[in-house]
Amino acid sequence: MRPLVLNPLFASLTSLPGVGTKLEQLYGRLLGREQPRVIDLLLHMPSGIIDRRARPKLRDVRDGQLVTVAVRVEEHRPPPPSRGRAPYRVVTSDDTNTLTLTFFHARKDYLEKLLPVGETRYVSGVAEFYDGNLQMVHPDRVVDEKGFADLPLVEPVYPLTEGLTLGVVRRAMDGALARLPDLPEWQDEAWASREQFPGFAAALHHVHRPTEPHDIAPESRAFTRLAFDELLAGQLALALLRAHMRREAGRGSSSEGRLRAKVMKALPYALTHSQQQAVNDIINDLALPQRMLRLLQGDVGSGKTVVALIAASAVIEAGRQAAIMAPTEILARQHLATIAPLAEAAGIRVALLTGRDRGGERDAILDRLVLGDIDLVIGTHALFQEDVAFHDLALAIVDEQHRFGVHQRLALTQKGNAVDVLVLTATPIPRTLVLTYFGDMDVSELREKPAGRQPIDTRTIALDRIADVEDAIGRAIDEGKRAYWVCPLVEESEKIDLAAAEARYKELRKRFGAKVDLIHGKMKSAEKDAAMARFAAGDSQLLIATTVIEVGVDVPEATIMVIEHAERFGLAQLHQLRGRVGRGAGKSTCLLLYKGPLGETAKARLAILRESEDGFRIAEEDLKLRGEGDLLGTRQSGLPGFHIARPETHGKYLSVARDDAALVLTRDPNLETPRGQALRDLLYLFGKDEAIKLIRAG
Ligand code: ADP
Ligand code: MG
Repeated sequence: MRPLVLNPLFASLTSLPGVGTKLEQLYGRLLGREQPRVIDLLLHMPSGIIDRRARPKLRDVRDGQLVTVAVRVEEHRPPPPSRGRAPYRVVTSDDTNTLTLTFFHARKDYLEKLLPVGETRYVSGVAEFYDGNLQMVHPDRVVDEKGFADLPLVEPVYPLTEGLTLGVVRRAMDGALARLPDLPEWQDEAWASREQFPGFAAALHHVHRPTEPHDIAPESRAFTRLAFDELLAGQLALALLRAHMRREAGRGSSSEGRLRAKVMKALPYALTHSQQQAVNDIINDLALPQRMLRLLQGDVGSGKTVVALIAASAVIEAGRQAAIMAPTEILARQHLATIAPLAEAAGIRVALLTGRDRGGERDAILDRLVLGDIDLVIGTHALFQEDVAFHDLALAIVDEQHRFGVHQRLALTQKGNAVDVLVLTATPIPRTLVLTYFGDMDVSELREKPAGRQPIDTRTIALDRIADVEDAIGRAIDEGKRAYWVCPLVEESEKIDLAAAEARYKELRKRFGAKVDLIHGKMKSAEKDAAMARFAAGDSQLLIATTVIEVGVDVPEATIMVIEHAERFGLAQLHQLRGRVGRGAGKSTCLLLYKGPLGETAKARLAILRESEDGFRIAEEDLKLRGEGDLLGTRQSGLPGFHIARPETHGKYLSVARDDAALVLTRDPNLETPRGQALRDLLYLFGKDEAIKLIRAG
């Protein structure tokens, strides 16, 4: 049960003064939770700061700068009555330049009171050049001399969502800070004092009520403390999970390797050296009377599926069962397609179970599973539904792990007795970050590409040459080639993504006819499968897609990948997308269409892709580039699961957090000491309390 002292932080945001159900909805969108709580707001970090200590002259203001300036109000220009929806402008100036304040849907009497002609006002907001003139749309604050004296000299800026203003968020934050109880310290005291960490509550105060800009920089002591809290919570949860899993001693599934040999014999190729090495690692693990927790990391196309099948064959030979869980139905079907012929040759009984299976057919599969008439089941989330039971599940293989939460992983492993776990990931994560996502797992890497793969010719092309690209695609289609065309990622709105993809589809379909097909995330899975099947069969040759094809899709005959607005994608994502081609014998090309002019970082990112196909190297470079990114500006949120800790700044604290978590559990496995109790608070605050249930009862 959650400690009572935390209750005020877990109360609904609507318990704060001024937050009603309408605002709650907006906060819900902002904070990514339907019914946001006080703690969710407190952990919403500022993205920048307003510094009122320096008030630049208008002459010195840069485009896009967040500034506070002192200006004289010169003139009001209300919209003409005939164009009531035009903006209301107020012209202001200092002795160096003029600044136009622009208001939409403004009330005249209100603005006249706020900005009386002839008087001086302090105005803050984002200044921009518009047709060469400096302007500010909806200033954040407009105050007179006295009001200015009452304003904090530095003030945080938060990421917002439409309808929420900074003022509203700050007020709510005040209310939230006031709710902070005095919590016992959960960090090791010697460590906290060496790092000069403020306490949890003090750190939140620093970050949300900074006294100087540095307070909210990620490297500040306050920010770092909170980041470390987040890392420690994550590592402690993983350590608890691991302890829980290790506690149930494993069962050795030893095999002579007869079945494995049959699978290998059915392969039309030889395993690469690193596939062989991974197979050896796994077979050894499986034979040991301890549970396996192994991560198989391999770049796209490096051949993880066959390694997974060989692993499965080892437990199947011992008379037990294996399951492969994929994040999407397309992927599950694709695994099935790769595996089915090999399995048949080896006499392994395979079935597919997805959310689409219902009724009698599903019942039949469930019956066969529980009777042990299926050796290997491949599926989606449907696999860990409650009524799915196994005869004797020995090995759970989880593909694209970071899309599943810890408790989902657990749900599958609890369907058997001491289930061994193999996690497959196609996202090459730098070693330093493996720990963050997977905790203390053993790792096998597939670093080489299967023999016979040709390098992908990667080129960057400015978007205004799109007509040339379309011509080239036309020629390729005539030659019988197959191509993907990935449409831009716009904002976070799937609707807009879709519109872009549909528009491109219509245009290209008009030009190239029935050879053009469309696939996107809003389609029913049967429709998606059908579109994939048409493309795989060659019935369609140009597949327009949103990023649904990012993960794992395998059509070896596809040799061209066009990515529109490549500058909007993350490096890892581009690499994943490109990995959809270059899988067969044909020579492949990847065209990265970008909208110029590119910033330095964007240029560097595209250059890395041109230079390298090594996913591990790309991941490392990605990390470096982000480190050099704008300190407090908008960042790519490339790594899921963390709100506060940033890999480039706080990555070095990860191993400390892991060691600390391990030490805590050695000394206090049930979190019963005073520090252990405090750590339970930490787990709740960071939403890791699932892990508390894993503590051995009694
Ligand atoms: P991923 O690691 O992305 O999941 P897959 O397992 O889907 O990669 O393998 C990609 C393709 O490479 C498949 O068509 C598979 O049959 C083929 N493949 C796997 N291993 C080898 C190998 N050693 N030599 C040649 N082709 C291989
Ligand atoms: Mg795969």
